[in-house]
Amino acid sequence: MPADAHLRRLARVAEAVAQADLGGVVVAPSADLVYLTGYDPPPLERLTCLIVRPGRDPILVVPRLERPLAEDAGLDELAEISSWDETEDPYAAVASIMGGIERAGCSDRLWAAHLLGLQRALDGTRFVPAGPVLARLRAIKDREELDLLKRSARYADEAFTRVIQTRLETRTERDVAVLLGDLLREAGHDEVTFTIVGAGPNGASPHHEPTAREIHAGDPVVMDFGGRTGGYCSDISRTVVVVGEPPLDFGTVFDLVREAQDEAFRAVRPGVPAEEVDRAARRVIERGGYGDLFVHRTGHGIGLEEHEGPYIVEGNQEPLQPGMCFSIEPGIYLRGEFGVRIEDIVTVTGDGGQRLNHAPRDLEMVR
Ligand code: ZN
Ligand code: ZN
Ligand code: ZN
Repeated sequence: MPADAHLRRLARVAEAVAQADLGGVVVAPSADLVYLTGYDPPPLERLTCLIVRPGRDPILVVPRLERPLAEDAGLDELAEISSWDETEDPYAAVASIMGGIERAGCSDRLWAAHLLGLQRALDGTRFVPAGPVLARLRAIKDREELDLLKRSARYADEAFTRVIQTRLETRTERDVAVLLGDLLREAGHDEVTFTIVGAGPNGASPHHEPTAREIHAGDPVVMDFGGRTGGYCSDISRTVVVVGEPPLDFGTVFDLVREAQDEAFRAVRPGVPAEEVDRAARRVIERGGYGDLFVHRTGHGIGLEEHEGPYIVEGNQEPLQPGMCFSIEPGIYLRGEFGVRIEDIVTVTGDGGQRLNHAPRDLEMVR
C-alpha cells in the first residue's frame, strides 16, 4: 500500500475514535496495525503499540531495539516514534502520553498481559474494545484491497481446478492437503494459511485436521483452503465426490447446500442487514429438513485476516455496504457419515453482489 493510503486510514481512524467518544486507541501488532501503517512486527512480551488520538499525531511506542525495524518500515513518515529502553517501564511511557484520557479503546489483539500493565499505569482510564471501530473501517475495501482479494481468489480457484485433475483415490487427506498447499503457492499465493481436507465421515467436522485416512471410491471430500496475496486472504470450499457409490443422501444434501449458497448470494445488496444473508441460506436448508445440521454462521468478512467483520450471522443487523467482502459458506454435517460445504468470497457492489471465486460449484465427480 502507498504511504498516502496509510495516512488516509490514520486520519479516518482518528475521526472514528472521536465519534465513538474515545480519547484514544491503543493498537497492538496485528492486522489492525498493518492496515493503519503497513508495519507488521511480531507481537512480543516487549510492548509495541500505536496510539491514535483525535486531533493529534499518532505515536508509535516501540522497544528501542526495534526502532530501526519501525524506521525501515517507513513509520517515521506516519507517526512520531517513541522508544523505551530495556530497563524502562513501557506502560509508564504510554501513561505519560495517554494520561488524563477517561475512555480509551484497545485493539482486539492487545495481549492481556499488556492491557493489565496499561490498566495499572493508567488507573483513571477505562479501556473498552476498539475492535468495532477498527473493524468497521477495515470492512469496506478500497480498490487496491479489492484487487488483491480478487487475485487471491483467482489463485485459490486455480488450485482447486488443478487438484481435481489429479487422482484423489488411494491418497490420504494429508497428502491432498500438502498438494493443495503446493498448488496454492504455484498459482501465485505468497503464503498458505490453511488446507482442510475431510474425506468420508471426516467431512462432517467443519474444521477437520487432515489425517492419514485414505480416500476411497464414493467418498465425498470437503476441501477448504486459502492463502495470502500481498497480505490479503483467499478462502474457498468445495465438496467433490470420488467416482463410486456415494452415501445415500449425498445428492440431496449437496443440492440443498448448493441452492442455499445461491440463495444467500442473491440476497446480497447494499442496505440489506448481514443477518438476512444468513437467513436466506438457512431457510433453504431448514426447508430441506437439515436445519439443525447447519451448525455454523453463513459467513465471515475477509481481508488482511481470514475471519473479520462483517459476520454473516443471525443477530448482525449491520447493513451491507459496497466494498464489503465476505464468505458465503453454508454446510450440512452428518456425523459419522459425511459433510458438504460450498464457499465463495463475494463483494457487495452498488446494486448487488459479485463473486470473487469462479471455480465450478456444480458437483464434480473426480477420480
Ligand atoms: Zn471455518
Ligand atoms: Zn473456508
Ligand atoms: Zn471461510
